[in-house]
Amino acid sequence: MIPIDIHTHHTENTENTENAVVNTNLPIKHTDAKGYFSIGIHPYQTDEHWEEQMALIQQYAILPQIVAIGECGLDKIWIKQKENKLQQPLFEIQKQIMKAHILCSEKCRKPLIIHCVKAFNELIELKKTFRPDMPWIIHGFRNNANIARALLAEGFYLSFGEYFQEEALLTVPDSRLFIETDESKLHIEQIINKIAAYRNSSQEKLVHILRQNYVHTFSNCNEQTAYTL
Ligand SMILES: [Zn+2]
Repeated sequence: MIPIDIHTHHTENTENTENAVVNTNLPIKHTDAKGYFSIGIHPYQTDEHWEEQMALIQQYAILPQIVAIGECGLDKIWIKQKENKLQQPLFEIQKQIMKAHILCSEKCRKPLIIHCVKAFNELIELKKTFRPDMPWIIHGFRNNANIARALLAEGFYLSFGEYFQEEALLTVPDSRLFIETDESKLHIEQIINKIAAYRNSSQEKLVHILRQNYVHTFSNCNEQTAYTL
């Protein structure tokens, strides 16, 4: 089965992971589980001791059930809330962690799942600097159509969840679209139905597009590949 939910934190989905890429944190609990997982340091977990965690993530990243790196990213609102409590400039640390995830994604050839809040210029800068081979997917995209267009022009994929701006959703071509539950209480089918209605599509057609996009985007990462730790 090919996932249609590109990003979820609902671990109960691990019983039904054929449909979802489940975000997992360290210590990883799902090394024996079948299904699809992503691994990374969430920007809310930014701190000075990230390098040890990253070393572990790099080890786990090559496991076949880890299909993506992340969620990782940049979040300036979170930084604003935290900055005065720490001495080292926190946004710089967040950027260092993001760069480490980019290198990890390129090295193990798995897409990046990105959390980005108020830092799209910096994110685009990073993409221009690193010129990654791997797809970069911005998850939980709630921004406006202008930002969507700027990101699409740079080759990003955009993933939409329960909340979004209609004009932005309609800006995204089928080939760059993903859908997710993230932390929503809604079921993935409900979100797909909602988005299908906005895009004047049927649920079946949209599911087909999502599966096609998954295969196309994650094709470098498959369970048949021989990995060694
Ligand atoms: Zn998330």
